[in-house]
Amino acid sequence: MPKDKLRICVIGAGAAGLSSAWSLNRFDRFEVHVYEAAGHAGGVATTLAIPLNGGASGASVWINDQVQGGADSYRNTLHLFARFGFAFTPVTLRVSIGSGDAAWNNVTRTPFLERMRPEIKRFERILRAIDRAKAPFAFVPIDTLLTWGRFSPEFRSHMLYPLMSLFLGSGVKSAEVPATLVAQLFLDKDVRLFDFDSDTFLSSSPPMVAFPNLTDVYTKIAAELGGRVYLRRPVRAVTRSKDRVLVTDAQGNTDAFDQVIFACEAESALRLLASPSPLERLVLGSVDYDEVPFLTHADADFMRRSYGADPEDAVQYYVRNSPRDPAMIDMSFNLKRYQVHLADSAVDVFQTISPIERIDDKRVFLKRVTRHNSHTRKHLALTVPLWRFLQGRRRTWFCGAYTLFNVHEMAIVSGLAAADRLGAAYPFGDDARARKQFDMYSGLVYGKSRAIS
Ligand SMILES: Cc1cc2nc3c(=O)[nH]c(=O)nc-3n(C[C@H](O)[C@H](O)[C@H](O)COP(=O)(O)OP(=O)(O)OC[C@H]3O[C@@H](n4cnc5c(N)ncnc54)[C@H](O)[C@@H]3O)c2cc1C
Repeated sequence: MPKDKLRICVIGAGAAGLSSAWSLNRFDRFEVHVYEAAGHAGGVATTLAIPLNGGASGASVWINDQVQGGADSYRNTLHLFARFGFAFTPVTLRVSIGSGDAAWNNVTRTPFLERMRPEIKRFERILRAIDRAKAPFAFVPIDTLLTWGRFSPEFRSHMLYPLMSLFLGSGVKSAEVPATLVAQLFLDKDVRLFDFDSDTFLSSSPPMVAFPNLTDVYTKIAAELGGRVYLRRPVRAVTRSKDRVLVTDAQGNTDAFDQVIFACEAESALRLLASPSPLERLVLGSVDYDEVPFLTHADADFMRRSYGADPEDAVQYYVRNSPRDPAMIDMSFNLKRYQVHLADSAVDVFQTISPIERIDDKRVFLKRVTRHNSHTRKHLALTVPLWRFLQGRRRTWFCGAYTLFNVHEMAIVSGLAAADRLGAAYPFGDDARARKQFDMYSGLVYGKSRAIS
């Protein structure tokens, strides 16, 4: 090996780890090794086979059973997938939120929507003011702002928080999401997740995309790393000295690297680091994770009972508040309306997060407990602004969706940003919208935009 090759260890083969590894691997001067605890590449971007005909025929159909897709602002994901021959499928978003008196959707004007119109208009004015002021509202939870603005509990619990839960998975913590982040997710055309409409709250046809088979995508990306993505090889410890980083796997094998990129969860990174600095303890220790039950099932009766849903509706997302505690939200997806290759299949496939009512066990394909970081004030105050003082110190870098906000596009951007700092120039600069996401991320997490322009 030439002396000037930089040996880099990436811990975690999720979207962030593989985008950083892929980007570095484009250059001969890097030798990248990826350690992954699980038996598959892609992290939480998983694909599952669902049996058809009750399993009797042996036939099955694939579904992406966790990460589904996103907004048309996901330009970096789009370009990375395209390099490997994969494309998004456009989807027109249909959501159905709440039930009874508080039911609304993005297609018809329900009585609840009409009742909320004055508050929707006021909310827009406030969002625009936050968007102009930005920084001061980074530490103000959206709920505090809505209290100052005298917004009704109905608007918060039945309108805004269910919608945020849908896109951010923020659930009961929606009230704590910083106001600046909410404004950006609604208004910034290059990063927004919601397509705001000043009359109906959510546009009637926001352009969304569904991802291709994610196991295929990430297996192909991993394969390009020429056998240096090690599945089922969890890292047990990372020890740093002045001139190298020692990475020890669960079997007790130790290898030496020049740099390490943590692309695993914050809590794992903190656990693996031998003698973390006080700042590393503070920043990584300030990322909180929520655990939510996540069921993939075919219980159409549950869907009817919970949301009044007809499996033949064009609706993808159903959200409702618990009748007992409006802060509790359950969400379901009709995957046949999202993943178009399922449209004609003979099986119903629904997913429900934190079900309020029982789902028939016999109709459950898979139960998972998923973990994702919460977008609390603590995250915005003690994690996001402090990354810049950690990145690159002691030969150590951090990437992952959790470093900013928990969506797939940010996972990809965070990996490209770590690679860029190490000298692998940002690859998608020709696309202004992709670049804007990257520069926004780099500005917040590294304190400045691209290392290499
Ligand atoms: C259920 C669910 C659904 C989601 N749906 C969407 C969606 O539809 N759209 C969207 O935009 N975003 C979605 N997200 C957000 C999602 O977090 C991001 O999309 C993104 O995929 C996260 O990628 P990541 O690389 O940051 O983390 P992860 O995918 O979590 O990858 C981290 C990797 O590190 C590995 N690891 C951990 N510890 C070790 C160790 N000690 N040694 C080696 N490896 C280790 C893990 O096994 C894992 O593979 C969803 C998240 C969840 C949980």
